[in-house]
Amino acid sequence: MKGVHIILMGPPGGGKGTQAKILQDRYNIAQLSTGDMLRAAVKSKTAVGLEAQTIMETGRLVSDDLVMRMISERMKWEDCSKGFILDGFPRTIVQAEMLENLLAEQQRILDKVIEVRVPDDMLVQRIAGRFSCAQCGAGYHDVFQRPRVEGVCDFCGSTRFTRRADDNEKTVRSRLQDYHAQTAPILPYYASKGLLRIIDGSLSIEDVTEQIEKTMAV
Ligand code: AMP
Repeated sequence: MKGVHIILMGPPGGGKGTQAKILQDRYNIAQLSTGDMLRAAVKSKTAVGLEAQTIMETGRLVSDDLVMRMISERMKWEDCSKGFILDGFPRTIVQAEMLENLLAEQQRILDKVIEVRVPDDMLVQRIAGRFSCAQCGAGYHDVFQRPRVEGVCDFCGSTRFTRRADDNEKTVRSRLQDYHAQTAPILPYYASKGLLRIIDGSLSIEDVTEQIEKTMAV
């Protein structure tokens, strides 16, 4: 199957979601965020949501099996026919291995793995201030990215905003620990296959996008 297949890796709060949404529009491919899918499942109280809720609230990772079931179903949707950007997945070595099998079964070829690298001390500040539009999901930040008109979403005009239950300092620290212990060890594997590209995620949103686009062009 032709198309563009990218993995965006990086710590929680590192800007993966923001960049994935920009790339989705630019390359016309689907953004598959396992975190967004799980939050939607929790909100609509599906069986998956009920299983994941408590674990997500404490900032730990939900089981590999549950995530794999969810993502493999999602990849069958029509909007994945031209490819996708994986955001927040794979998160463990087991998930990376299962993903490899899944891609092979679907005859998809992984183009690039982009690591958005950000120092830990920046992340807590970034995460603690973030919020999003309750209607269209556009992301904002108390300090770095306020809506153009106070209290009104730039994209859909909604005046309702939400904050994630797991965006507090204590939970962020445990999410960071999981990232370093379980997710970061996947990176050398992709590096050894020549797929890994490292981006400086401490820069502005526009500068990070520019770096990613340069990486995509080569
Ligand atoms: P995120 O929006 O990517 O930060 O994900 C929010 C939460 O959803 C994480 O802290 C985990 O509890 C759960 N989650 C999301 N993606 C995964 C994954 N690939 N594997 C395990 N848990 C995940």
